[in-house]
Amino acid sequence: MRTMDFLPIFMNIRGQRSLIVGGGEVAARKAALLLQAGAEINLVSPELLGNLKDMHAEGGIHFRQGTFEEGDLEGISLVIAATDDEAVNRRVSELARARRLPVNVVDNPDLCTFIFPSIIDRSPVQIAVSTGGSSPVLARLLRTRLEAAIPSAYGRLAAMVEQFRDEVKTRFSSVNARRKFWEEVLQGKIAELVFSGQDGAAEAELKRAVAEGIERDSGEVYLIGGGPGDPDLLTFRALRLMQQADVIVYDRLISKEVLELTRRDAHRIYVGKERDNHSVPQDQINQLLVDLAKEGKRVCRLKGGDPFVFGRGGEEIETLTANGVHFQVVPGITAALGSSSYAGIPLTHRDYSQAVVFVTGHLKDGSMNLNWKGLAQPNQTIVFYMGLKGLPVICEKLMEHGLPADLPIALVQQATTPRQRVFTGTLGDMPERIASEEVKPPTLIIVGNVVKLHDKLNWYRSELMIEKGEH
Ligand code: SAH
Repeated sequence: MRTMDFLPIFMNIRGQRSLIVGGGEVAARKAALLLQAGAEINLVSPELLGNLKDMHAEGGIHFRQGTFEEGDLEGISLVIAATDDEAVNRRVSELARARRLPVNVVDNPDLCTFIFPSIIDRSPVQIAVSTGGSSPVLARLLRTRLEAAIPSAYGRLAAMVEQFRDEVKTRFSSVNARRKFWEEVLQGKIAELVFSGQDGAAEAELKRAVAEGIERDSGEVYLIGGGPGDPDLLTFRALRLMQQADVIVYDRLISKEVLELTRRDAHRIYVGKERDNHSVPQDQINQLLVDLAKEGKRVCRLKGGDPFVFGRGGEEIETLTANGVHFQVVPGITAALGSSSYAGIPLTHRDYSQAVVFVTGHLKDGSMNLNWKGLAQPNQTIVFYMGLKGLPVICEKLMEHGLPADLPIALVQQATTPRQRVFTGTLGDMPERIASEEVKPPTLIIVGNVVKLHDKLNWYRSELMIEKGEH
């Protein structure tokens, strides 16, 4: 087995004097880091550049103009060499090591007795990543992944836990009981409350838990927007909750790729609704969520797009509230936004459109009960959800209420997925144009002059076609 090249430790340098040799960009970054950790800083350099000038002006560092001398190491407990002169860096390192001072030479692990890790800062929680100096880029990439996976509120959670530490110690005398208690707190409802910004409620709940003990098996529901299809469009929070839920209740609109990102051993329940074929009626879905949560399950209710945009999310949480089930709602990229970006059709534009409305084009008994006059306004983009079947009615009604027959319109089928197709035409000719095309749901309809920009801004489709060798 390979031994460790470096021992990871966390050092208390508050109030101690550090020496930085060098006055450029790199020196500035190290200085900022040391200041954050509460160090006093001496800096030696022939000149100061950029940020360091400001830091010096603000009194953050003690600056000596000149070149490094051995005397600079007097009274110092940590040394950083950050000049672009290798000979100087080497000399700093040698003299520092001779005095048994910890020394870091930027970009030269051989001259270092310590190195800086990549840091994920959720103070008081700190995560440090190091490749032992072999690849700072790899460390940075790892850091990015961890940043995405670890909620930014971890620091606040840790700080809250700290406040209650003594109290919990008094309340639970055995180490085991305390460990169990904290595990429940840090993985359960209380942590989720902090992550979703409800610190006050979290604190109240924690107080209650300390006094009365934690109820083990109360479940909860995460109402999650799964976006329009491309799994890359999920939010960090959506992904995290999808991976911790015990049960996934999902719709027809959820793409295979998104579903694959849910926890592997989670129980998956399909409640998709086909047009004119309601496989599971809404009130049964509502009840299912309540029942699962009451069994103590963490339920992920995964919906296409955003749960609160034509998603009936409101009805679902109403039932949850009425039954006293805890829940949270995670927004998603709604189809209009996904379609717009991936089809190169901005929804507003200085020259073409100053407003955008989202409206349902669902046909009921062959017609649509909409405020057509309000919709048929100049300089406004109209986005129809669920409008594919009613397309002829939509075009006809908009023209009847004053929009010109040559106004552009686009259909975006299966937006953001590899199956995306975009059809463009005008109010006058669109129904006829697509008659032979077999356009499939889900399809979104965008009406307005912004559709003219599609040819110019259509990056996604052209990329795709190149990938598929169609160009
Ligand atoms: N809550 C969803 C909308 C549900 S209504 C959201 O915020 O996106 C269902 C309608 O959404 C479909 O009829 C279609 O018009 C539209 N839609 C959903 N996903 C789509 C996609 N990937 N491409 C095109 N339209 C989509």
